[in-house]
Amino acid sequence: MQCNGNCAKFAVKKPAPKFGGLYESGHKRCSCCEIYIIYDGGRCPCCGTALRAKPRNGKARAKLIEFVKGKKV
Ligand SMILES: [Zn+2]
Ligand SMILES: [Zn+2]
Repeated sequence: MQCNGNCAKFAVKKPAPKFGGLYESGHKRCSCCEIYIIYDGGRCPCCGTALRAKPRNGKARAKLIEFVKGKKV
């Protein structure tokens, strides 16, 4: 998995100062490309890395943490 430049189409140039609100407004983070993108999918359209999106409530967040740890939810 490696950045091949496709993410530029989706990339958010400058994340808003309100950092916590980014995920909630549909932004997702690719840790491989090191960008925030607006993309309706679970994986980066560029490199295929699983995107990080922070859910709103605690329950979903706990699920996400489990998912990140590699458990099936
Ligand atoms: Zn990329
Ligand atoms: Zn990527």
